[in-house]
Amino acid sequence: MEYIILDLEWDSIFYKPEKRFVNHILQIGAVKLNENLDVIDTFSETICSQITTKVSGRFAKLTGITSEKMRAGIPFVEAVERYNEFCKNAEVTMTWSNSDLYTIIENQDLFLKKGPKFLIKGYLDLQKLVQGKLRENGYENKNQISLEGAAELLDISTDNFDLHTALDDCKACALMLKACYEKQKFDSMVKDTTLPDFYDRLRFKAYPISDINDSNINRNELKFTCPKCGSKTERMRPFKYRNRWFVADFKCTVCDFKFNGRVAFKKTYDDLQVKHKVCEYKSRKKKNNDMQSVPKAVSVAENRE
Ligand SMILES: [Zn+2]
Repeated sequence: MEYIILDLEWDSIFYKPEKRFVNHILQIGAVKLNENLDVIDTFSETICSQITTKVSGRFAKLTGITSEKMRAGIPFVEAVERYNEFCKNAEVTMTWSNSDLYTIIENQDLFLKKGPKFLIKGYLDLQKLVQGKLRENGYENKNQISLEGAAELLDISTDNFDLHTALDDCKACALMLKACYEKQKFDSMVKDTTLPDFYDRLRFKAYPISDINDSNINRNELKFTCPKCGSKTERMRPFKYRNRWFVADFKCTVCDFKFNGRVAFKKTYDDLQVKHKVCEYKSRKKKNNDMQSVPKAVSVAENRE
């Protein structure tokens, strides 16, 4: 069993044919691990861009890849062919966060239309695995953690590594994998990239639904029960769409309690995420004394299958 940890360095470059900036891959680094998770081979190629002769100052500073070094590299197609030869026996490929996968897709779509594609069988997001382990140890920050930050929390010294060069990032990742590896958890996190929806899922961008008549919306989600007595309510006015929320005032059919109901829908690849909120009713004329006992906001989040 062999594993690969892959890391890419990319520069944001204006791509004229598409009239937009793209994350242009300019270096591929990887380490190969045996089943004991020891590094048994390494890979590093710098890519000579086919669309630009210069790298940005920021990129050169961060990665050490100057325009001269970039121009001395090999073409992207060749780099991917060599990489695929390097990792041909690997069952699982890992990257630090799946942003590398997005960049791979973009670069393949733009520059490798007919050429080879990155060979990835099973895929695991190493950042997720490491962050899960850190959470077990009491680390609570929910934001995505940087490679350096995670290494520090795991007491792994990166002094001897040139971080932000692709190969050394991979070497640091290999140490973190070893520190966090548990077979069962690892196996459960490996995704099969050969499934037809694997890349569709990555390409899909979640979006908020702004049309109340959208067919994805279950009409029952637009109803609210009274937060005071649990009875049916009536909507007093049509919904308005404000800042990703559908907002309307409601009135209880039993106790006459009035409140402001809010519901938001976000379409993801697999489902529709629904959020409800109950807020204080604000009379358009003057504030009614009754309303001061209203809870400020009750938030309910749920996923619809
Ligand atoms: Zn009521």
